[in-house]
Amino acid sequence: MTTAAPKTEFSSIRPLSEADRDRILAAVDTAFETQLDFLSDLIRCVSLRGQEAEVQELVERALLERGYQVDRQSIDPALIGQHPAFSPATVSYDKSWNVIGVHNPPMIDGRSLILNAHVDIVPTGDPERWQYPPFEPTRHGEWLYGRGSGDMKAGLSAAIFALDAIRAAGLELTAPVQIHSVVEEEITGNGAAMAVASGKIADAVLIPEPTDEKLVRANSGVIKFAITVQGTPAHPREVSGGVSALEAAMRLIDHLRKLEARWNEERPTRPFFDEVDNPAALTIGTINGGEWIASVPSCCRFEGRIGFYPGDDPQERVKEFGAFVAVVAADDPLVQRCPGPVVEWVGVVHAGYTLDPGSEAEAVLAEAHAAANAPDGSPIQTYVMACYLDAAVYSVHASIPSLVYGPIAENIHAIDERVSLPSLRRVTKAIALFAASWCGVRPAESAPRISAAGLES
Ligand code: ZN
Repeated sequence: MTTAAPKTEFSSIRPLSEADRDRILAAVDTAFETQLDFLSDLIRCVSLRGQEAEVQELVERALLERGYQVDRQSIDPALIGQHPAFSPATVSYDKSWNVIGVHNPPMIDGRSLILNAHVDIVPTGDPERWQYPPFEPTRHGEWLYGRGSGDMKAGLSAAIFALDAIRAAGLELTAPVQIHSVVEEEITGNGAAMAVASGKIADAVLIPEPTDEKLVRANSGVIKFAITVQGTPAHPREVSGGVSALEAAMRLIDHLRKLEARWNEERPTRPFFDEVDNPAALTIGTINGGEWIASVPSCCRFEGRIGFYPGDDPQERVKEFGAFVAVVAADDPLVQRCPGPVVEWVGVVHAGYTLDPGSEAEAVLAEAHAAANAPDGSPIQTYVMACYLDAAVYSVHASIPSLVYGPIAENIHAIDERVSLPSLRRVTKAIALFAASWCGVRPAESAPRISAAGLES
């Protein structure tokens, strides 16, 4: 475990000058169309689970071109089950690896920073239902459409181009900065877990997930399960001798709604969660069952996730969940006619986190947000995100102040996902100003300078 370094150690960091700030903001504007081209290239990569190689090669190239020290980082299966940051893995990680870019300045006089983004995306559903093909990024008005545009390839582009803007402004960070382009966020969090388990830590991490330009105050812990129910198959002429695994599974799902309600009832006593609509948010994501149209189905398997509160031990929630399933299965008149349902853990099993109010990281981000939104912007708002975030891995296992803050996006995990381009521009600016203030800057020896009028040689 490491802890964030105390404030006093960094008293030598000078505040960002107004001139530096203006040059950084101008540099984001100057490169914004190039950023959108890069973002579009990211969206064209179909980076579903296990298929992230193409997008990671693209990110790797982009970081190498910029002079980062770049490593491909495999997820070591031997660590899973050994290090507490990992969740169960059900697939091979042969074709899934992180890309870690590091810049170590010659002179260190500031706080180090990680910018993290995940490159994996979720399936599109029927592409015919999309207004534009999901992997052909399309600009319409102030939006860019495409699967992964908001969640969270825009954020990845913001991280890379924010750091570019600092250099284009003729400045150099005075603390190490890392870019963690990770896999597996959408299912296990094992990409971020690998980064943390391998000691890739810093004084703060910022993750530009699509948060509508708000800062995440807390998220939920999450466990992802699969339940298999075995029925008794039968011919339609002797239905009474059979037990439908499908119907038994549906009963179990109904019972699980009671567990969801029970976990939701805990919210009044949980900091930051008292006004969250549905913190447990039981979601049944897939269901597969039956073998033949005219047979009583012998087997049904469904998968889902359920959430709980920061501070809860996920293993205790796993036990509570398993015990609940066993009790309702034994009590239900239909399900009790089946062998005991088998519960498996097939995705993230992880605690939630809280960003404690009053951290210096939050104060620096609040200032950067205000400057990026000047003159009409409102102060940064905070909210609770009732879902898993990789920030939890950095926060829980390395005690790193974890800031989740990113652009406005709509329809993430849905049809016609899109990201707001003016919002992405503002967020890129805020991240650039945050990184410059957090890490500290000094005039670069040889970097190009940029002014509002454009590049100067
Ligand atoms: Zn995401």
